[in-house]
Amino acid sequence: MEFAGKRVIITGAGKGIGRVLTQMLSARGASVIALTRSAGDVEALRDVPGCTAIEVDLSNAQATRQAARQALPADLLVNCAGTTDLQSFVETSVESFDHLIAVNTRAPMIVAQEYARDLIAKGQKGAIVNVSSVASFVGIADHAAYCASKSGLDGLTRVMALELAPHGIRVNAVNPTVTLTPMAVKAWSDPKKWAGMLNRIPVGRFAEPVDVAEVILFLLSDEAAMVNGIAMPVDGGYMIT
Ligand code: NDP
Repeated sequence: MEFAGKRVIITGAGKGIGRVLTQMLSARGASVIALTRSAGDVEALRDVPGCTAIEVDLSNAQATRQAARQALPADLLVNCAGTTDLQSFVETSVESFDHLIAVNTRAPMIVAQEYARDLIAKGQKGAIVNVSSVASFVGIADHAAYCASKSGLDGLTRVMALELAPHGIRVNAVNPTVTLTPMAVKAWSDPKKWAGMLNRIPVGRFAEPVDVAEVILFLLSDEAAMVNGIAMPVDGGYMIT
């Protein structure tokens, strides 16, 4: 897979999957424009060769659009930023629900709109990967807002794939199971929940960020030229159990 000289926008590049993906693309000669929130991460990303970091809170629609425009031009886009908030369904607050939809579903739409408009205007081809979750396919206790936000993202991915493919822009989603990042610590540190989830993964382990990043790289690459509109589990077989 050839990424040398490509400019790639990655949201949520500060930690976890986005951070590992940024390092992998940098090592392959790509320039990454990282959109992320914490000032410390923005600072640390400056040490990654070829990486430019833009500090933005993706829950703010106007700031997101401004940051997306600032990040252009780009060849490829990965909407990786995401957040979660554990609440039972009956306790799920409107504030939390709105926040998760804003970061996990609305921000990918806004960033992709700016990216796609620019490519369409120039007649250039591209590819987008939206980082979704197996939580899009199944119900997970205490994840009502998260599941809704990721199912929404998969729906968005399909419409984007349909409308952007005629312009030469492919759009796909990856749907990881529990991946060993700061988010997993937040969502799965209860040993009972952890064990219950692990028991349902046939390969017998959780995903590492690199497992997810490798699939994203494939979907971004020209090798995936006929792959468009899919939501691809990266789950060690969780979805077949
Ligand atoms: P991490 O929490 O490790 O990293 C998430 C990144 O997104 C951080 O850099 C974070 O910045 C950034 N981010 C979150 N909210 C905002 C915001 N409002 N504005 C700007 N940046 C923001 O998560 P993962 O790497 O685990 O998750 C990456 C993606 O993978 C997410 O979309 C997640 O939903 C998905 N996923 C993760 C799974 C897991 O088990 N880890 C499983 C399935 C899917 P900051 O820390 O500064 O807020």
